[in-house]
This record gives sequence, structure tokens and C-alpha cells, in this order.
Amino acid sequence: MKGKIIKGIAGFYYVHVPQEDKIYECKAKGVFRNQNIKPLVGDNVEIDTDDQPEGSGVITDILPRKNEIKRPAVANVDQALVMFAAAQPDPNLNLLDRFLIMMKRQNIDAIVCFNKKDIASQDEIRLLMDTYRISGYKVIGISVLMQDGSTEICDLLKGKTTVLAGPSGVGKSSLINLIKPDAKIKTGEVSEKIKRGRHTTRHSELICIDKDTYIMDTPGFSSLYIDEIDKDELKDYFIEFKEYEDMCRFIGCMHLNEPGCAVKEALNEGKISSIRYENYKDLYEELSEIKRY
Ligand code: GDP
Ligand code: ZN
Repeated sequence: MKGKIIKGIAGFYYVHVPQEDKIYECKAKGVFRNQNIKPLVGDNVEIDTDDQPEGSGVITDILPRKNEIKRPAVANVDQALVMFAAAQPDPNLNLLDRFLIMMKRQNIDAIVCFNKKDIASQDEIRLLMDTYRISGYKVIGISVLMQDGSTEICDLLKGKTTVLAGPSGVGKSSLINLIKPDAKIKTGEVSEKIKRGRHTTRHSELICIDKDTYIMDTPGFSSLYIDEIDKDELKDYFIEFKEYEDMCRFIGCMHLNEPGCAVKEALNEGKISSIRYENYKDLYEELSEIKRY
């Protein structure tokens, strides 16, 4: 039978078989260990359930991976939904850009989602959405609380494996609860102590929304390491610079203080968001200060 690994704990892999909508607890066949291949969450696998206790099986084959990302460790990702709150907590756009850089770096298309539309002003929402829309991203504004936008979200997710990323408190668990009511994930109403506990013990797991739709919540994914990025490649992860950089006077222009910079010209003409550009400068500065040994 064919299935997808949705979770891995202590040598066991939990394989969702869409055909039966059933989860099998599986061990990996010894041959993978010899070949140094480790099954990953998101892997499409072949399992054998013959001569196994009810509900268990053995992974006999891992199908070729479309891609494989490191943080979180998951295979066959189609896209990322990067979620921030439009208010409470106020969105930290520098952090949002770090998420987008990480995704771009791993070649994952990102959709930007602003939640809590119900408690932000129209103007704030518009500014946030416009900023990322003119930067080339697909952007969606929702309110999980008011169930506003859930149809659009479901359309975006349908038939895909999506990584859900964003800081805590923005409504990620609430969103998962909304689109998959029987996924037993607790939302943030619990005490801080339990909440912290939850974040340290939860494993990355794919949640099955329907037959071929999966979403991965990424616990503890709020601090990001961009320090392994070379400052000179940072510009490559700001996707809106791309259409201008060929017109810069200097090859390898960093779009900082160089004369004849087409990116800065686009910035002055309002074609590139000044919020994004300032974040680029700040991050460039930050990367310049990191000592390399
Ligand atoms: P997570 O840490 O990203 O998983 O966030 P949670 O789903 O735990 O939500 C954090 C808090 O925000 C909870 O108190 C939710 O009830 C609340 N919340 C989630 N979505 C919305 C929304 O659309 N509007 C408002 N006002 N509050 C929301
Ligand atoms: Zn330039």
C-alpha cells in the first residue's frame, strides 16, 4: 500500500494511507539503514502490512523526493503558509522577512497570511497586504475567529503539502482547528506553563486535512537563523529585486550605495516597498557584523 509519513517518533513512523484513511504504525526495513537513508516526515512510502499485527506495517520503499527541507525536517513540501497576526501581537516584519528568506532559500513558494483581521484597522491591514503584494507574494487576510477567509485558505491548501510557519500567538493552532475540527491540537487559551511545555514536547507532524491535503505545524519555529547566509547572497532572497537588478550599472550591485542602482530607483518610484528595503538594509548590516572564523 502507498502512504505518507506524517510523524516519526523513536524509530516508529506513522503512515497515513489515503485509500483507507487509516494510519499505520511502521518500522523501517533494515535496508534503509544500510543505505543511510532516513525516512522523513512527508515521504511517500510503500508499506507492507502482511503478517503484521493489526494497525502496524513495515516501510519497504521510499518514493523519490520532490524536495527536502531542513527546518522543519520534512520532504515533498509544495508551499509554505507564513502566518502573522495583523495585530495582537503586532507583526514584526523583520521576522516575517526572515521567514520568507528561509523559504526562498529552500526553494519553497511562500504565501503570506495575516490573521486577526477582526481586531486590526482597515488601514493597517491594507498597508500590510499591499507591502507584500507589491513584493510579489500571494497575500491573504483572514480572521480565524470570525471564520473569515477559511474557504480561501482551503482552496490554497487543496491537494498540497503546506508548511505552516509563524511566531506563536498568531493563530496557527486555531487555524488548524478550524479547517480540521478533529485534529486534537490545543489552542493558546491554556496557561503559559502548559503552553511552554507543549512547545518543547510537540513533534513536527503533518496533519491530514483531506485525502491529499496535508499541513505541517512547526512548533518552536519562532527564532530564525539567517546567520549562515552570506551577506552578498541576501539580495537574491528579496524576490522583488529580481526584475530590476539587471538594469543596475554595476554587476553584483548590492543595491546599497552604488550609483546607477535600478533597485533604488524602483524604490524611489514606489515600485519596491520601503519597509522591505529597510529590512534588507538592516539584515545586510546584521550579516556584515557576524564574525566568520
Ligand atoms: P499559535 O500560537 O500561533 O498556535 O496561536 P493560537 O492558535 O494558540 O492563538 C493565539 C490566540 O489568538 C488565542 O487566544 C486565539 O483565540 C487568538 N486568535 C486566533 N485567531 C484569532 C482571530 O482571528 N482573531 C482574534 N481576535 N483572535 C484570534
Ligand atoms: Zn542595484
